[in-house]
Amino acid sequence: MLNLLDFDRQGLSEFFVKLGEKPFRATQVMKWIHQEGVLDFDAMTNLSKALRQKLKEIACISLPQVQTTQVSQDGTYKWLLKLDGENAVEMVFIPEDDRGTLCISSQVGCALDCRFCATAQQGFNRNLSTAEIIAQLWLAEHSLRADGYQVEKQGRAISNVVMMGMGEPLTNFNNVVTAMRLMMDDFGYGLSKRRITLSTAGIVPAMIRLREECPVNLAVSLHAPTDALRDELVPINKKYPLKELIATCRAYAKDKRYITFEYVMLKGVNDSPSHARALAKLLRGIPAKVNLIPFNPFPHSQYQRTTIEAIDNFRDILIQAKLITVTRKTRGDDIDAACGQLAGKVRDKTKRPFNILKK
Ligand code: SAH
Repeated sequence: MLNLLDFDRQGLSEFFVKLGEKPFRATQVMKWIHQEGVLDFDAMTNLSKALRQKLKEIACISLPQVQTTQVSQDGTYKWLLKLDGENAVEMVFIPEDDRGTLCISSQVGCALDCRFCATAQQGFNRNLSTAEIIAQLWLAEHSLRADGYQVEKQGRAISNVVMMGMGEPLTNFNNVVTAMRLMMDDFGYGLSKRRITLSTAGIVPAMIRLREECPVNLAVSLHAPTDALRDELVPINKKYPLKELIATCRAYAKDKRYITFEYVMLKGVNDSPSHARALAKLLRGIPAKVNLIPFNPFPHSQYQRTTIEAIDNFRDILIQAKLITVTRKTRGDDIDAACGQLAGKVRDKTKRPFNILKK
């Protein structure tokens, strides 16, 4: 059965045309689903009875099930969503005074194996479908609204989306881009492309494609200023080394967009003043914002967080080099909702020998 959450406007128009209907049925149905939160075809009163009946026979609007909801002392929410079998993913909502940001997952687990990330330790099972990605926004928006939550004047709970949850979004390119199109569509969630940020460990060919097909804000998980160190921390660097990565970032930033560079602060590993100077040199001439992320620990992690004084020192060196630099505030760590702590439940298919969490 077709899940209508798998289609963006174009896909849905084609679906209705194939049924012998007018393409505008797509925008009507999108409004019902994504704006009104209606999942029952019978309640879609501007469709004919015959069409509603037909839809019931051939299609569904199916969402993952919310298994648990946790709320942190600082107001951050974390939901565990049950998918098929033993698979589950997490998503996080971060409320701030002027915005509400939803952090969305794109895969069950992750195949990239970054040394400091809890998701990596779980291994990889599969890509999320478009429906499973957009359903995260649907579930969060409508459940927060039902709780009376509102950050935006127009009655919206979620004003920003970051593709920064579990998984590498650019190795699930088509499903992620289709979901982002729904987020931006006026008949979907109407978010501007400046309010969507995709974070990548640096899948160069997919970054080039993203720039052409769906140029949302880009965040790049850099974490090291040299190939030797980055090969170790972010192994995908061996395939797409810094020279290529930085050239691609430079091109992405051409349209005067800032690129965010994420840099996790690991004590004694990548956090010295000389690392800061090398980083400033690497990013010279790129419209860059650097986001320093204090390392968030998880069970069996081998790293420690850099002290706040050393992080400030590192930040000041970058600022002196004229790089906009902020230290990311840790949110929701009391419920393991902070960067790099998302784990969900993954039926690992990679069978990695070092998968210590799974012993
Ligand atoms: N695969 C994508 C999306 C994950 S985003 C990417 O790598 O960008 C999650 C962000 O949190 C990334 O910048 C990631 O490097 C960072 N991160 C991972 N583990 C972390 C940890 N333990 N502490 C702090 N940040 C971490």
